[in-house]
Amino acid sequence: MEYNIALLRGDGIGGEIVDGAVSVLERVGEKFGHTFKFTPYLIGGCAIDATGEPLPEETVKGCLASDSVLLGAVGGPKWDSQPGDKRPEKALLGIRSALGLYTNLRPAKLYPALRSASPLKDEIVGDGFDLMIVRELTGGIYFGDRGYREGKYGQEAYDTEAYSVTEIERIGRVAFESAMKRRKRLCSIDKANVLESSRLWRTTMHRLAQEYPEVEYSDMFVDNAAMQLVRDPKQFDVIVTSNMFGDILSDEASQITGSIGMLASASLGDSNRGMYEPIHGSAPDIAGQDKANPIATILSAAMMLRFSFGLSDEADAIERAVDKVLDEGFRTADITGGNCEAIGCREMTERIVNAI
Ligand code: NAD
Repeated sequence: MEYNIALLRGDGIGGEIVDGAVSVLERVGEKFGHTFKFTPYLIGGCAIDATGEPLPEETVKGCLASDSVLLGAVGGPKWDSQPGDKRPEKALLGIRSALGLYTNLRPAKLYPALRSASPLKDEIVGDGFDLMIVRELTGGIYFGDRGYREGKYGQEAYDTEAYSVTEIERIGRVAFESAMKRRKRLCSIDKANVLESSRLWRTTMHRLAQEYPEVEYSDMFVDNAAMQLVRDPKQFDVIVTSNMFGDILSDEASQITGSIGMLASASLGDSNRGMYEPIHGSAPDIAGQDKANPIATILSAAMMLRFSFGLSDEADAIERAVDKVLDEGFRTADITGGNCEAIGCREMTERIVNAI
């Protein structure tokens, strides 16, 4: 099969890590008989420099015409003084909305080989954990009615959390389907003891749960979930939650793996086309020095194969290659934990390519 992939390298380490993922995809293509065609487009600071816009029209059109999108990261000190709507990061919201991406999948996996990188104690971490957060991405308080008004104590500002049954059902289905492909456990996180929108969220999820009898379903309040993630992360398989709760909990979940350079993400909508990117930023402090960890982007490419192209064996091959290289003791500087000598972005990529 032939697949057209739009490449958004972006700024800082974006180019280095996306090129690493491209080498890995090319190797997968060779081994499994697929052709991946890559077309680069500008986004973020480099797009501002070239066109005056963080998200040029040509980039949006190119992504819409592609089978899927691989993004590095955007931003850096050079563009920090740009006005709000001209900042590189604004392009991220723009491209998500142009592609209709309402689901964010963020796996948080602690590899046994990287146990010492986690801030959690050994007895909590055991032989590692592996959970997936499914976050609603285009609704809730970040997109609700907002403004300023006169209140009881004078001027006040407000933001509104609103969710429709349709929005809850569509994210719920993604979560149940993800659970079916994993260990078949789903925990829905809300604040139904206080918020009306959470009560609708919970009753809608309960209704959906009837359609997935094989999935062991549970509910949890968000304050308890924040605590449980650090007390016993192994209890979770898939978590589904709203935009704001997901924003906060997914950062907490990534932190307990101890390694920002390892975590991939996928943003999905109704079509097979998705946008795949590492969760970290453009790391301007190490850009151009061959120090970046390419694994988060390489694992994002594996998610693309699995979720957009249905190529599970190929995705497994990438994930196994990453496991193997880590088990052999190779580390980039962000994950050495001071125990061994670091290798660079290029060598890490080469080793993963050779392990496929
Ligand atoms: P960052 O994630 O870029 O970096 C935080 C720290 O982690 C830095 O010390 C960096 O060197 C390190 N780091 C990050 N990724 C790494 C990797 N792959 N390998 C090794 N080390 C890595 O966050 P920041 O410093 O707060 O932000 C830098 C720029 O990135 C800002 O302009 C910010 O707005 C932007 N940003 C972009 C995205 C995105 O494009 N999705 C996300 C977050 C931040």
